[in-house]
Amino acid sequence: MSLILTDISLTYADGDDRVLALDDVTLDVPAGSVTAVVGPSGSGKSSLLAVAATLIAPDSGSVVIDGIDTSGLPRARLAELRRRTIGIVFQQSNLVPSLTALEQLQMMAWIDGRSTREAVPRGMALLDAVGMADHADRRPHALSGGQRQRVNIARALMNDPTVLLVDEPTSALDQERGEEIVDLITRLSRERHTATILVTHDRSLLAAADRVAEVHDGRLSTVPPPPLLTQSLRQ
Ligand code: ADP
Ligand code: MG
Repeated sequence: MSLILTDISLTYADGDDRVLALDDVTLDVPAGSVTAVVGPSGSGKSSLLAVAATLIAPDSGSVVIDGIDTSGLPRARLAELRRRTIGIVFQQSNLVPSLTALEQLQMMAWIDGRSTREAVPRGMALLDAVGMADHADRRPHALSGGQRQRVNIARALMNDPTVLLVDEPTSALDQERGEEIVDLITRLSRERHTATILVTHDRSLLAAADRVAEVHDGRLSTVPPPPLLTQSLRQ
C-alpha cells in the first residue's frame, strides 16, 4: 500500500497563457512513512497535494494509489476512492461550526453511507488517539487552534485511509503546538500505516519526517535521508 506519483506535470490557465505549477514530479511514498514537502510560497506544494488527492487531474503523469492507477477512472469511482482511501487535512481546519468534535467524525461515516451508530465508538477511539477524548462534545469555537487541528486529523483518519495528505497544519500554531501536531501526524502514520505527505514551510519541523522533498518552481528534489533511516526502511 503506497502512493506513487510518476512524471507529474500540471499547468493552470492564466489568461491566454498557462502557468507551469508542477514540472515532471516523481515521488514514491511508502506506507507507514511521512514525506515532508517544503518549498517557498507559490512553488507548487498545494498543487502537488491536490494532484495526489485526485482533486486535480495532471496534464501528464500518473497517480497510483494502492496499486490502482487513478488516471482515466470515472468521476464517481474517483470520488469513492477519495472517500475510502484518502484522508486530507487542509491548512484551515474547516470544521463545521455547529457540530461537536465527535459529530465532525461521524459525518464522514454518514457521507460514505455507513452506519453512524457504528461510527461513535470508532470516532471516540480516534479522538482518544489524538488526545481529544475529553473534548468530544465541544464545538470548534470552544477549542484552541491546536485542538481543532487534532480533531481535523482524527476526522481525516475516520475512514481508515491508506493515504494521508496534510497541507501546512501548523501555520496557525506556535512552535511548540506545531511540533506536537507534526509528532502526532508522524506517530499516527506509522501506527496506521498511511502513506503520508506533509507540506510545511517550517524547516524546524522536518526532523520528525522519514524523508524530505523540496519543491522549487514546480520541480521536486528529494533530500536523502540519514544513513540509519535508510537502513531501517530497507528492512
Ligand atoms: P504553494 O502551495 O507552494 O504555495 P501552489 O501549488 O498553491 O503553491 O501554487 C503553485 C503555482 O500555481 C503558483 O504560481 C500559483 O499562483 C499557481 N496556481 C495555484 N492554483 C491555481 C489556480 N487554481 N489557477 C491558476 N494558477 C494557480
Ligand atoms: Mg499552499
